[in-house]
Amino acid sequence: MLKNDMLEEWDRENFFHPSTHLAEFARGNAPQRVIQTGDGCHIETRDGTKLLDAFAGLYCVNVGYGRQEIAEAIADQARELAYYHAYVGHGTEASITLSKMILDRAPSNMSKVYFGLSGSDANETNIKLVWYYNNILGRPEKKKIISRWRGYHGSGLMSGSLTGLHLFHQKFDLPLNQVIHTEAPYYFRRDDLSMSEDDFVQHCASELEALIEREGADTIAAFIGEPVLGTGGIVPPPAGYWDAIQKVLDKHDILLIADEVVTGFGRTGSMFGSDHYGIKPDIMTIAKGLTSAYAPLSGSIISDKVWAVLEQGTDENGPIGHGWTYSAHPIGAAAGVANLKLLDTLDLVTNAGKTGAYLNKVMGEALADHPHVGEVRGEGMLCAVEFVKDRETREFFDASDKIGALLSGLLLDDGIIARAMPQGDILGFAPPFCLTEGEADEIAEKTAKAASKLF
Ligand code: PLP
Repeated sequence: MLKNDMLEEWDRENFFHPSTHLAEFARGNAPQRVIQTGDGCHIETRDGTKLLDAFAGLYCVNVGYGRQEIAEAIADQARELAYYHAYVGHGTEASITLSKMILDRAPSNMSKVYFGLSGSDANETNIKLVWYYNNILGRPEKKKIISRWRGYHGSGLMSGSLTGLHLFHQKFDLPLNQVIHTEAPYYFRRDDLSMSEDDFVQHCASELEALIEREGADTIAAFIGEPVLGTGGIVPPPAGYWDAIQKVLDKHDILLIADEVVTGFGRTGSMFGSDHYGIKPDIMTIAKGLTSAYAPLSGSIISDKVWAVLEQGTDENGPIGHGWTYSAHPIGAAAGVANLKLLDTLDLVTNAGKTGAYLNKVMGEALADHPHVGEVRGEGMLCAVEFVKDRETREFFDASDKIGALLSGLLLDDGIIARAMPQGDILGFAPPFCLTEGEADEIAEKTAKAASKLF
């Protein structure tokens, strides 16, 4: 392990950090933290500060830190066979076993898993496959993708375009013309506050239908959505939303891609968000919870319906020209196998549902009377607190007030990592599934304390 007095300086001089204010970082004015160890729900920085990680890294260390079973599986795999590729019919015991374990858990209409490295590249794969699908079916015009404002689908060329957050578009020349964004199912932020939840769902479905009719259904290939909007503010859908959306998509023969990068493998308290909300996707994106981030691995789960056309395509055109060197990397796959076993043996999905509901309850109680808390919402081990300038009108704070950043800073000083979500004054919580009720109490109490300190 590197123990080096120069580390912070080397960091500033050499390391290009994602989503970071580069100039402030170089000047030494931005947060800089070197993480050394992790155990359960806690991490420790190099200077010995212990923090309760209430965001599980980037909502990915689902089984918690320091799991020796996964570390051993990775080491065993590296010793036995560090790498072999998955092209032209090659596999390893780990990658083949993991594909079976994923399909055993996925909805019954799912047929195969394509492995990638990140959620972003899995979504790049998905869009290429959807385009390929329509070309094979002789529908070369059916190519546009509908995504939602506030959706997050990654940072690649296409996945970044699918993402509906301005921060991820600005000053990049992304191929946004391939993507149409529609309304987010964000009931708290509906234009007309007198609208009931049912009416709002119907409104979202009619907006989608109007958009499809305007563009022409024969030009639209797929709709992509996260079962619960994640990075866009942790927004669970209103009841009946997915059912209403699915009906519109089915009517217009538009494929549904469920981006389960956050919700996959238990975060809602069900194995997949699609199970939780009764979604019937044609393709599912998985990443984070597949290995609990012990190694980078993602996947596209392909339904029978899409698979049949892909096979037909190879009969007509030969092999599909798409692949990554590290597709189905054996070390990632070994981590995935050990991770999914651990989820089962420790019954962690049940705990995500149970303790997650407890976290949402105590957070709601701790902040119920706070004059600047607009809403506490969540599902399973996902929780968000949205702060507003005026509780009655839901007026936003000025962006320059940086409320989310200030609150997450206060929480950090008190030993808790929460995430200031990138848009709006929203604090996000997505702890590891091994969270205890005692730790949930601590998160809620300290959040209330930070809120009363700031206001
Ligand atoms: N899709 C969703 C829903 C995500 O939340 C993320 C990342 O947070 C991604 C895709 C992109 O995954 P990655 O950062 O592994 O590329």
